[in-house]
Amino acid sequence: MARVYAVASAKGGVGKTTTTANLGTTLAMAGHDVVVVDGDLGMPNLAGALGVDPDGATLHDVLTGEAAVEAAVYEGPAGLSVLPGSNALEAFATANAKELEPVVSALEASYDIVIIDTGAGLSDDTFVPLKLADEVVLVSTTERESLGDTEKTRQLAERIGADVVGVVLTRVNQSNPNADVVASLLDAGVIAVVPEDPAIREALSTQIPVVARSPDSIAAAGYRALAEALTGKP
Ligand code: ADP
Ligand code: MG
Repeated sequence: MARVYAVASAKGGVGKTTTTANLGTTLAMAGHDVVVVDGDLGMPNLAGALGVDPDGATLHDVLTGEAAVEAAVYEGPAGLSVLPGSNALEAFATANAKELEPVVSALEASYDIVIIDTGAGLSDDTFVPLKLADEVVLVSTTERESLGDTEKTRQLAERIGADVVGVVLTRVNQSNPNADVVASLLDAGVIAVVPEDPAIREALSTQIPVVARSPDSIAAAGYRALAEALTGKP
């Protein structure tokens, strides 16, 4: 049976998509059969982070019943499968996140691991993946605002009975608050720390995830630690 992860935080720009891309690639490199799903229906940019240019069907077409799931799956780095979204404004208007459930069920039958990237906010884009996930991976920077918004996502997850595995702290540098401050604002254990790293921006500009492009970078090490924390092996 596949494991389904949702990568979530109500705050935008904290590293959810970067985390989904690098976690998925790390697990694919380790030999797992993994699919990443762009559940951010309004601002889908997971495909770009993985060098995938969807020239046909997207998740939005699957959600409206216009395409089969398999038709919208593309190959990313290290054999990672990618279910991208559409950037067309009209696609956002017609797609309904509630239709994600049969999509994820279909993927669970074909893959070992399903990872759903989610959008900011607390709308259905986030709510539905939290409900579908076996484990929720929170992502936050160590800024107070980000931790506070991420705590709201944690509370939503708790309210709907979703299992929160912990938080990935991203863009961490020395000027950030210490672990006590983080713990006082967000009621979740830290499962990995990804330092602020220029290699992430370079990776994004070449559309190759940092774990594949710069495996010796500090960010890549952080993402490998996350993969290990989730699956119990390097
Ligand atoms: P979200 O999906 O939460 O909106 P993204 O993953 O798109 O966030 O990341 C937002 C921005 O932060 C991107 O420009 C990304 O390159 C940058 N970023 C993410 N993590 C790091 C990091 N560890 N070091 C440097 N830049 C990062
Ligand atoms: Mg994103």
